[in-house]
Amino acid sequence: MDSPFWYMRKRFWRRKKTKTAHLSHPGFHFLLSFLLSLVVLVRGESPPGYFQQQVHYAISVRLFPELVRLEGRETLTYFNRSPDTLKTLYFHLYWNKFRAHSYARPFSGRERGHIEVLSVQDSSGRDLNFSIDNTILRLPLPRPLPPGDSLYLQVQFTGMIPPSGERFGYSGEHFDIGNWYPVPAVYDARGWHIDQHLDGEFYQEWGDYEVEITVPRPFVVAATGRLMNPEVLPDSVQYPGRTIQYYLQQQPDTTTVTYRFVAERVHDFAFCADPEFVLKQIQVGQTTLQFFLQPYRLKTWNSILQRVVEGFSFLQEKIGAYPYRQLSIVDALITAGGIEYPNLVMINGYIISPRELAITIIHEMAHQWFYGLLANNQTRHGWMDEGFTTFFEIWATEHLWGREGNLNPTRQSGWQRWLGYTQTARREAYLNYLEYALSGREEPIDTHFDYFQHNPYIPTYDKMAVGLFTLKRLIGDSLFLRGIRTYYRRWRFRHPYPEDLFLTFNRATGMHLNWFWEQWLRTTWLLDVRLRKAVGRWVQRKGGRQFRLTMVLERKQPLAMPVDVAIELRDGSQRRYRIPIPGWLSRTDSSDLPSWHPANRRYVARLYLPAPVRRIQLDPQSKLPDINPFNNDNRRIPPLKLFWLHRQYVEPDLRCYTATLFPQLFFNDVDGFVIGLRSVGNFVGPLYWHRLETQLGSRSGQPGLSFRWSSLLPIGTSRVRYYLFAYRLEGRAGGELALSYRTRTQPVNHRFLLGWRVRQLYDNRYPARAWSPGTVSILAFEWIRHRSVTAYRKLVTRWQLRVEVAAPGGDYPFQRWELVLLPRIALGPQTNLRGRLAVGQIEGKPPVQYLFYPSGAAPVREFSNAFARSRGTLPVDWVRDGHFRLPGGGQVASAAIDGAPSAQGGRRLLAARIDLDLANPLARLLPSWPVLPTLQTAVYAAWSQLNWKKITRRSGDAELGLTLFWDDLPFPLRYLGMSDVKLTLPFWYSRPAAGNNPWKLRWALSVGFTPFR
Ligand SMILES: [Zn+2]
Repeated sequence: MDSPFWYMRKRFWRRKKTKTAHLSHPGFHFLLSFLLSLVVLVRGESPPGYFQQQVHYAISVRLFPELVRLEGRETLTYFNRSPDTLKTLYFHLYWNKFRAHSYARPFSGRERGHIEVLSVQDSSGRDLNFSIDNTILRLPLPRPLPPGDSLYLQVQFTGMIPPSGERFGYSGEHFDIGNWYPVPAVYDARGWHIDQHLDGEFYQEWGDYEVEITVPRPFVVAATGRLMNPEVLPDSVQYPGRTIQYYLQQQPDTTTVTYRFVAERVHDFAFCADPEFVLKQIQVGQTTLQFFLQPYRLKTWNSILQRVVEGFSFLQEKIGAYPYRQLSIVDALITAGGIEYPNLVMINGYIISPRELAITIIHEMAHQWFYGLLANNQTRHGWMDEGFTTFFEIWATEHLWGREGNLNPTRQSGWQRWLGYTQTARREAYLNYLEYALSGREEPIDTHFDYFQHNPYIPTYDKMAVGLFTLKRLIGDSLFLRGIRTYYRRWRFRHPYPEDLFLTFNRATGMHLNWFWEQWLRTTWLLDVRLRKAVGRWVQRKGGRQFRLTMVLERKQPLAMPVDVAIELRDGSQRRYRIPIPGWLSRTDSSDLPSWHPANRRYVARLYLPAPVRRIQLDPQSKLPDINPFNNDNRRIPPLKLFWLHRQYVEPDLRCYTATLFPQLFFNDVDGFVIGLRSVGNFVGPLYWHRLETQLGSRSGQPGLSFRWSSLLPIGTSRVRYYLFAYRLEGRAGGELALSYRTRTQPVNHRFLLGWRVRQLYDNRYPARAWSPGTVSILAFEWIRHRSVTAYRKLVTRWQLRVEVAAPGGDYPFQRWELVLLPRIALGPQTNLRGRLAVGQIEGKPPVQYLFYPSGAAPVREFSNAFARSRGTLPVDWVRDGHFRLPGGGQVASAAIDGAPSAQGGRRLLAARIDLDLANPLARLLPSWPVLPTLQTAVYAAWSQLNWKKITRRSGDAELGLTLFWDDLPFPLRYLGMSDVKLTLPFWYSRPAAGNNPWKLRWALSVGFTPFR
């Protein structure tokens, strides 16, 4: 996949953070504060029927760095504050995700981490029986626990710390320890929440913690809660010149030190330990921000500390005060961007860009509110924390750098800036959402995180953030903030559910907003309002002569939102109106038009105006996530932005059609140098796009033109698209008209295409390979069955069927069909077994360019590749010896090398190929070289038969070889339109020409070429 998805993945790994509560009361004060917190909770406006359990933890744990293990003893008091008598308790053992053959890693036989429970005892020291199902421990209680009663348990456990990964683990002497102790699952009004831990995040009971962490002496510990014995911190922790005595001593220092933490009213406890940490503290109001940093990263961190402080203040100002006295921000060695825990956030220590570091910290800090204090179930309703957090991350960073200056740091490298490629964070979220919505793979935001079939990050992060920006703009900042603050005040220190958010928000704003929540969160409806018609004329009314305007609006997609209308009159004056949703803001304002009910697709408005109308715009300020803003305007011509040398997949503006121009220079034997201009353009990725190619041969004076256009068919669904293609270029002319339909079924979806294609060769000096003259006219039908990759699926297959039948107007009566099966089996990280099975047949009198070739695609498909299209573009030897070819057909490279380009094509094809992807050893050996580490390698075996009715050695061929392919091309090659380059080295083949040695090293090169498919 191309970089946008890569990039998104990376960005979405930025996870949550945590907070630590600081307790000022050691020892027996703890009980007092606990009782006080109960009083506060009881006194708070507890909604009817709401309850939450309470747990008091006292844990002592020892870290053994050399063994990468924890040993712990946990005593917990579980208060049953539910109205139910409990007979069983459940615990999460999150690290068991890393056990061999766990639910999360069913195919891995390697143990990478676990939590081992040695014993569970009751208050009398009696061992209790329990059972474990991977990450869930089930504990039948010796006696039922009635409402209002409490239970005392003592648990002994050890932990094998996993290697550093997304959210926690160890790397060398650095330890990021989250989700590390047996922790009761949540029991709430909806019962037990015992989701196995796959990849989603967490949900735990509110409680208080006293935790003693014992580490070897030079280690510094950062944790949730307040450090009760700060004297254990080495003096040198304050100094950037800190060195690790641990390594310097001949004998490792085995003396240990115990850090004591107390945390009150939190729902989890995490810590980080590192012998090198340097501590920086900044007081913001009543909270101390504690930065635990790697000494070699101080310069980067120092450059953004002020931004972090501003961001923290912004969040407090917008949402509400942060009630804890400490927040630790740790320079951690996780691979997620960041991860939130109460009072503590771990930030990816590999982030280089200061801007990206600051944005990540602000995201994780926003989680202190949305997750830390508003403790929703992250696995079931991930959007409640991630969506709000992404929204506040963007809003806070816009506050820091300005709305237009809030650029994505990972897209700010030199050439990107030089080419004017910038994307603000908010536009990027919109774009991610729109592309996702139009992909046909959208799933509702409010989906269980483990149940998403596709990317869960775009709905939970971007789409939710886009929805909140839309809502904020529709109801205005002050009402929006009143909703947010009320929700925070009412639900902090609790477990809110979506309905709690909706109700609180509706009541606080005094609005009925369920239409928004329900459509945006629980459907995949799109929004597309259209100005269908606007007519007007002068009429005589009581007040005199007036211009009567009749507007017909239409919802082309079902999603309904209030619509603003701006009308510009010929006398230069402006009018603004709003069309409300019934029950919401209707008739509150004199400029409101009658409401438009969501059930009605059409809407007619009649206005009496003092002058004729010049322009009508729906949603003039782009408040709405409209998938097609071009039909919102009576002018109909979309605004256009032109870019020079801009990368083709960049959409800098969501209200413009973006076109990019590229000059290009090629060579072929007939035209000499071919000077050309290419243009690609689109609006929101898949919605509209074009490809245009114009050229002129310097020697021949021959002009060439090729134009493709595609867009959705305007019938109110985003599943049917049409394609137009016309060209007259390098000796060939033709056209195509096609319709395609894509199902939205999941996880398997289908794409059907029906088209009419006419192709003609008018100058046979051009083709590099044999072409038949005259006109080919065919009806084409294509079917692709695609199974989307889900994380836990081993086998993924794709089917492709292509049928072509002669249509009137052609010189060649023939039929051709081809069926290709592409299975892929995941064997391990970066190791796949990829297969390809192809079978095809041609009847009648086909032109030679449609025949099957053992070495690859039929010549007719090579026309779309500028390198292969005409004679002379590539060195004569490459073409004559068949070194250059396109994948497809039989894919036996040696047939090309051996047989030269004119090698016989066949009417029947039966071919099989297996590729085993291998890790590229150069990526490790020469990581800093420019190209080599990005090469991918595979060994393969291929066999191809051109007459499957009569298998003979003469008509079949087989080989073994090595493939190097490169699909992460740098800009200059992408600029030429290349998408990938593949070098094939067959080291054995079965049918050498006379005198050839089957073991001699040979090579064939193929180039994928995107724009002119
Ligand atoms: Zn997050």
